[in-house]
Amino acid sequence: MSTTPKTVAIIAHDNKKDDMIAFAKAHINVLSKYRLIATGTTGRLVAEATGLEVKRMLSGPIGGDAQIAARVAEGDVEAVFFFIDPLGAHPHDPDINSLLRICNVHNVPLATNAATASYIISTRAL
Ligand code: PGA
Repeated sequence: MSTTPKTVAIIAHDNKKDDMIAFAKAHINVLSKYRLIATGTTGRLVAEATGLEVKRMLSGPIGGDAQIAARVAEGDVEAVFFFIDPLGAHPHDPDINSLLRICNVHNVPLATNAATASYIISTRAL
């Protein structure tokens, strides 16, 4: 049996970064049991706010979402918490849609808002 901690990916659009920080603080005990990967800015902010170790990919607009999608496709990721801003325009919409699609292709739990992410954690599905 592998002892390598499973990986959870976290991403938040700019207007949702405060939500992600609050979510990470509220669930620090669960999240600390996982290897965390994140897009660049989200990862830095969550690491600074919580002290959790977060492996940072590129920032989303320059390829971070695509890097995370690749990890999901490779089967490395247990769940994706991607807090999306539904009111903003994003230059990297193609990458965002690709990540959502890849999660669905591989049946990986995907929360696009804090309520769903909290539900996934509270059901101890993770
Ligand atoms: P960021 O990327 O964490 O580097 O801001 C998030 C995104 O917009 O995809």
